[in-house]
Amino acid sequence: MRVTWTAGTLSFRLDPEDEITGKASDDYPVKLATNSCSIGGVPDDAHPDLFALAAWTIVAPWTRRRVTFDRAVSAELAEALHAGWGVEAGPVGALPRPQGARLAISYSGGADSVAATAMYPEAPFVHFQRVSHPRVPNRWPHYRSDVLAELAATTGHELSVVTSDLEYTLAEPRPGYPEHHAVAAGALLLADQLDLGGLAFGYELGSRWLGGDRYVGRFTPDNPMWAPHGRWGRLFAAAGVHIVLPVGGVSEAVTMRLALGSPLREQVRWCLQGTDGPCRTCGKCVYKELIQAAVERRPLDIPRGATNRARKWLKKPPYGGQEMVQYALARVPGIEDTLFAPALDYFDVAEEATSWLDHCYRPAVEEIPEAWRAQTASFVEANVGFMTPDEARRVETWGAWQGEEMV
Ligand SMILES: [Zn+2]
Repeated sequence: MRVTWTAGTLSFRLDPEDEITGKASDDYPVKLATNSCSIGGVPDDAHPDLFALAAWTIVAPWTRRRVTFDRAVSAELAEALHAGWGVEAGPVGALPRPQGARLAISYSGGADSVAATAMYPEAPFVHFQRVSHPRVPNRWPHYRSDVLAELAATTGHELSVVTSDLEYTLAEPRPGYPEHHAVAAGALLLADQLDLGGLAFGYELGSRWLGGDRYVGRFTPDNPMWAPHGRWGRLFAAAGVHIVLPVGGVSEAVTMRLALGSPLREQVRWCLQGTDGPCRTCGKCVYKELIQAAVERRPLDIPRGATNRARKWLKKPPYGGQEMVQYALARVPGIEDTLFAPALDYFDVAEEATSWLDHCYRPAVEEIPEAWRAQTASFVEANVGFMTPDEARRVETWGAWQGEEMV
């Protein structure tokens, strides 16, 4: 893979051994659509390791044996690429980037990043805004990234909006981040200007420790995307920007509760559709409504048109997010009279069976870099509480009942 940055535009050329269908770090297959993308709202004079890392978050799935950058990187960064992916990276010849002093939040506007903000109210935001690609038709005009960026601007927090069409480098399954870390590409290019030593992501307990979303669905202390000792964790650290997961030890029920109790409550938005408010009918809205109803102990409020969106949570587990579905089934009054009734057969819906999801898994706080650890720890102590050893065991035995990876 050959990588070139020119005035915010990344172009890359595949080497003969590279392939246009690759795999992201969670083993999800991704197909390349086009070999260039742009990032706006960033300076053009960042440390070469930051340019290299930003590019790698985009080209990693398609790279097999080597990656050649247009400017020399540090030996430390090249070593982290080799250790993590087995690729030869070069040319080598820059001094490593010293770690900056500040933590920024990769701010999406969803409940998880609002909860992270509650822990670090002084942290600047970097918001990623999807824009259309000059050569790829936009078949997703309903995706209102502009609305989310406008909401971020009303928070009153120090904000950098990064615009990018990098999601259109993916042909399949749909436009999206080639690697989950590509959301950070712009933040990385801003890291020198903002003096960043850490970047906080809103990944919660399910994503970090339970192998959630499209990953394996069992306890994942060595999660390759988010563990500090995983390949991405070490690569970010080599560029002097640590991956920080302030809410990595708490469930989406806790992040929802914290977000709804936060000064940013009115700006919380996870829906990518709808302009005046959430659409209430997309899959994300239905899932988050389930959690919100559980947290607020009120009946479910889902419009009729959304019924077919719930289908994925009515099938037999395992599936990503099932811990939250179980949590909600145990707490939403009248759930047996809703479209979720069939799911009741699959779970123990006694509240005690899911009360571990109200507390924080302590190792998640211990893996936060020292500079920011105490602030999370005292916030958790005051607002959430840590899991008991029995509760922590629920995390550590998660998915033990499955022999196979989720598909
Ligand atoms: Zn929606």
